[in-house]
Amino acid sequence: MRRELLLRAVPPLLAWYRVCKRDLPWRHCRTPYTALVAELMLQQTRVEAVRERYVRFLSRFPTAEALAAAQEDEVLKLWEGLGYYSRARNLHKAAKIVAAQGFPKDFAGVRALPGVGDYTAGAVCSIALGQKEPAVDGNVLRILSRLYADGRCVDDGSVKSEYAGLLREVYPEETADFCEALMELGAIVCTPNGAPLCGHCPWRDLCLARRAGEAERYPVRREKRARKQVEATVLVLRCRDTFALERRGEGGLLARMWQFPFFEGEAPDFGPVLAQKRATHVFTHVEWHMTGKLVDAAQPFAPYVWATAEEIEARYALPSAFSAFKAWLR
Ligand code: SF4
Repeated sequence: MRRELLLRAVPPLLAWYRVCKRDLPWRHCRTPYTALVAELMLQQTRVEAVRERYVRFLSRFPTAEALAAAQEDEVLKLWEGLGYYSRARNLHKAAKIVAAQGFPKDFAGVRALPGVGDYTAGAVCSIALGQKEPAVDGNVLRILSRLYADGRCVDDGSVKSEYAGLLREVYPEETADFCEALMELGAIVCTPNGAPLCGHCPWRDLCLARRAGEAERYPVRREKRARKQVEATVLVLRCRDTFALERRGEGGLLARMWQFPFFEGEAPDFGPVLAQKRATHVFTHVEWHMTGKLVDAAQPFAPYVWATAEEIEARYALPSAFSAFKAWLR
């Protein structure tokens, strides 16, 4: 019964997508490489944040070969503001593999690239390789759980694999449009927060949740664990026109990214505090509650790297967690 319902849902979804899809830069050109860049950028990131950065990234690195030849710091700089920087490092590694061996030809090959999971591999295969490979993310889980009024918890892996199996069975020949249409429906009509726009939905006559008047009951999700709360101090150490930077450690959150000197809890005393401000940054599992302090230093000193505001702007990727304190660079 689920298969039949989904089969009936395909034509109106495709028809709706062709008329209503947003004009997004990664929809203009669909090579496997550009699809991979777009999908990695879009993971856990808003479309609006990705648009310009995608264009900028592709104009600097139009091919996997160009990206493969770049220095990591430049790649991270172009990724600045998107967060989850391990995606940029993985994309860089993937580009080196693709430059050496060519782009993989099937799901297993794409899935084996660094940083590529089932969802991304499915999206790249259906969008750029014309293959009937489902891509099931939170959007697709939500719209299908509503279409079916499925009260099972969508965080349960068996629901995800069942949906992937159903999608594979009904996949039309227009693989790219179908994959993108599912995502688009979840992004602009069957939205996660607030009421879905059922009146504008191509599935309004089919959707079991809507027919029961219970769209917002779905999807059923596991309760989230509370985020860890961390108090920290961020020092903007200034010496004439330069500022102190350090690299974060090899593992964990924001691994190897540049930052202002960062201390969990209180910072050591480096001199009189000229200005102070508070900022909070929310990661998936952690919240940083930061006190930023502007302090003048008489001389540059180790272990920090000292750079001017212009050098920081041009060369050092500072994660957006520290955006509030960048105001002191001016
Ligand atoms: S009818 Fe409403 S709940 Fe059902 S898929 Fe469309 S937007 Fe979502």
